[in-house]
Amino acid sequence: MDKDLVGQHDELVHAQVNAEKRRSRDSLAAQRRLLPPHTPIPAFDGTFSTLEAECQRAAYDFGHSIHNSPIAVLKPGSFEDLIRIVQFARQHQLQIAPRGQGHSMYGQAQVKDGIVVDTSSLRNICAIHSDRVEVEAGVLWQDLLRATIEHGLLPPVYPNYPGLSIGGVLSVGGFGPGSQRYGAVVDNVLELQVVTGAGKLEICSPDHQPDLFEATLAGLGQCAIIARATLRLIPAKTRVRVFQLFYPTLASLIQEAESLLHRDDERFDSMLIILAYVDANPGGMWVYMLNAIKSYTPPVDQIENDFLLRDLHYLRGRECIHDMRSIDYVRSIADWTVPHNENDTNYHSWFDVFVPTSTVTNYIHEALKSVSPLRTGFTSILTPLNASRFRRQLLRLPATETFFLIDLLRTDTTREALANSMVYNRTFFERCCALGGTRYPIGMLELSAQDWKKHYGAQWDTFMQMKNLFDPDCILTPGPGIFQQ
Ligand SMILES: Cc1cc2nc3c(=O)[nH]c(=O)nc-3n(C[C@H](O)[C@H](O)[C@H](O)COP(=O)(O)OP(=O)(O)OC[C@H]3O[C@@H](n4cnc5c(N)ncnc54)[C@H](O)[C@@H]3O)c2cc1C
Repeated sequence: MDKDLVGQHDELVHAQVNAEKRRSRDSLAAQRRLLPPHTPIPAFDGTFSTLEAECQRAAYDFGHSIHNSPIAVLKPGSFEDLIRIVQFARQHQLQIAPRGQGHSMYGQAQVKDGIVVDTSSLRNICAIHSDRVEVEAGVLWQDLLRATIEHGLLPPVYPNYPGLSIGGVLSVGGFGPGSQRYGAVVDNVLELQVVTGAGKLEICSPDHQPDLFEATLAGLGQCAIIARATLRLIPAKTRVRVFQLFYPTLASLIQEAESLLHRDDERFDSMLIILAYVDANPGGMWVYMLNAIKSYTPPVDQIENDFLLRDLHYLRGRECIHDMRSIDYVRSIADWTVPHNENDTNYHSWFDVFVPTSTVTNYIHEALKSVSPLRTGFTSILTPLNASRFRRQLLRLPATETFFLIDLLRTDTTREALANSMVYNRTFFERCCALGGTRYPIGMLELSAQDWKKHYGAQWDTFMQMKNLFDPDCILTPGPGIFQQ
């Protein structure tokens, strides 16, 4: 870096450190606003708590960087509770943040001096039919997968990590196994029951109240609280074969994934690229792996490894291939948990963007080169995706035929390192935008009102109209900072 750039970078980091310190001081340590004494609290079916410990818990998320403490936490016992809390909030000019599992990284599910609606109490899997499942918003994906696979069924797409809530994933988009063929989780929703910011319980679907449906899916909780969803199910094949293929270079792996994406043979059901920095002598080294999955039902489907792998360019002899029953595979995924709680002292400054395919190799090269200091265990996940599979209006994706979702999974142990990561995230966000990429809004990045407007582009005016219509007092989900009250 030249001297000017080093100076600018240091200044930015310094400003970021101060901003971080200010933010955490202003929020956690500040005197919490309380409900005025004798405020009549509605009779809830669930629990409404103003206990300090409960509020502090709701002030944490996976990122551990922002801590905005609410004045109360509602664990709804019914959908009527959602109506009651919205009406109460409107009456008292309070804001509400729906919260699933708090796996957001930058305060998306928090609200300072407002009310957190902790949906973990809405945990019923209401009905499993042959082609769909009706499920409450607080259900975890792992519980849903365990339940549906028992019936030989699966959602066409589910998140790679299933310790997330249905509502949390539907409010961001949802990528994972099946995304190459079926798009995002939000592309596979048949119907929603929601409580809008106006306090109305509504049913919406592509045919009934489609505006509300579109404003809710990948809508970052801005227009409505999701209470219940009807998700598509498809028959699960009985067996799964997992191929872990290693490549000599990043470029060769990206090229392979791109060419597989463009073929019509849908050779694999799902593809994920894992870039891991591992121990090596001396120092560390990158490992480039393609994780490809093929499901099949013998004897109807015959799959031959030699045929599937015939023209691929991985390092022969280093591949790992596992074959198992689908039910065991799904159970093993469902058992995976990434624990996080308020005692975790690490900051997760994850960074997530969609980058057009033609630019992805250079982009990721630059991004990885600038991760400093590199530590063993640093991982990045790339998901190759095809634009034709995605339909939701608020899921902002590049305007190219194919693109990659890039997740850089970084952990920082000090505030200074975190501040560095924030500068890094901003730099690579801007670079991504310049290349025609977009942001997957789950990670740690501060966006201004102007940034959000750019993010939504042609959808901005419609989104604003929907916000005014369905959340007229702007009480829902201030965390992302999209609309000002
Ligand atoms: C370890 C880890 C693994 C991940 N893996 C994946 C993955 O494989 N694929 C993927 O796509 N993403 C993944 N993510 C990102 C994840 O999907 C989002 O962060 C998701 O929003 C988290 O779900 P949650 O239940 O924790 O939601 P929260 O963090 O609690 O909430 C997220 C946002 O959704 C809103 N929200 C929550 N519930 C509702 C509701 N009922 N109605 C309306 N709005 C609501 C909140 O207000 C907030 O704005 C991962 C994140 C982590 C930390």
